[in-house]
Amino acid sequence: MAEEDIKEVLFGRVKTTPTQKFEPDLEDLRRPFEDKDSVAYCFCSGCGLLQEINAAGAEKMARVAGKGVFEPGQDYFFVASGCSFCLGTPEPVELRKLN
Ligand SMILES: [Zn+2]
Repeated sequence: MAEEDIKEVLFGRVKTTPTQKFEPDLEDLRRPFEDKDSVAYCFCSGCGLLQEINAAGAEKMARVAGKGVFEPGQDYFFVASGCSFCLGTPEPVELRKLN
């Protein structure tokens, strides 16, 4: 199975918009956090940057994503449309399940 097909099975078909160019690497998302304060990964679909975010960041991202509360655990990760690195607008933010 081609890598793109696997991603499609795992994530469902991603709607293609000009701001969504990158897809996260599942291997990266399964790695333990480097910072002990990190509770989630945030992937930027605008530039492909993967960042770890702490509880306060995750809470804020969950609100932006339209989810009230973020429950820590690596089962979920955020996908932002832009970040401070690519100077893109982070919204819309998506909360995805990792499996
Ligand atoms: Zn970015």
